[in-house]
Amino acid sequence: MRLFAATRNAGKQREIRRVLEAAGHAVVFPDEAGLYEDIQESLLENADTFEGNARRKADYFVRRSGLPTFADDSGLEVLSLNGAPGVRSRRFAAVEGPVHQVDAANNRELLRRLLGAAAARRRARFRCVIAFQLRPDAPPAIFEGAATGTILEEPRGHDGFGYDPLFLSDDLGVTFAEATAEEKDRVSHRGRALAALVAALGGPG
Ligand code: IMP
Repeated sequence: MRLFAATRNAGKQREIRRVLEAAGHAVVFPDEAGLYEDIQESLLENADTFEGNARRKADYFVRRSGLPTFADDSGLEVLSLNGAPGVRSRRFAAVEGPVHQVDAANNRELLRRLLGAAAARRRARFRCVIAFQLRPDAPPAIFEGAATGTILEEPRGHDGFGYDPLFLSDDLGVTFAEATAEEKDRVSHRGRALAALVAALGGPG
């Protein structure tokens, strides 16, 4: 199937393309479809849950793209921080600018909040919620994935994006930034949510 993926995040785009193309689907991102960001889009992510944001993005883009559309909303939850950064993962440090600067500032902010915290207080999970809409008038289908781990005291590894260098995966025993692409896809929150989407789409695309 030809699917529209409602994200402009390059890190997410790489992972989505890898997983969906391996399953035989073609993926189109907003810029490739000539859909550039407008004010309405910039105001979409104001729900207080991942599912709420994913639903809003899918609903908005299925109308603009004319294709079966899915949106991923995801983030990191640290249990001892009452689930922060959570839905605010991208805006945690309140820094705007190029994505690598935003990611670096968010990672510094996370380390600052956990300074001196014992291992038990560094437990965390990544969550990803995907909302898929076949047509504008169709109800969305929701798919979820989670990955558990521990936030390290300093970054390790150079691959991935976002909080990957600080997230020591329970499944892999290395950070998501040290893992190969295939390893991360196999156990990550996004990999798991995408696998559920692929299964629901049924058979090779
Ligand atoms: P969203 O674009 O509002 O869904 O925000 C996602 C944010 O959560 C990203 O900017 C990252 O900070 C974080 N995030 C989500 N998924 C991942 C991941 O797989 N690795 C690292 N950080 C992630």
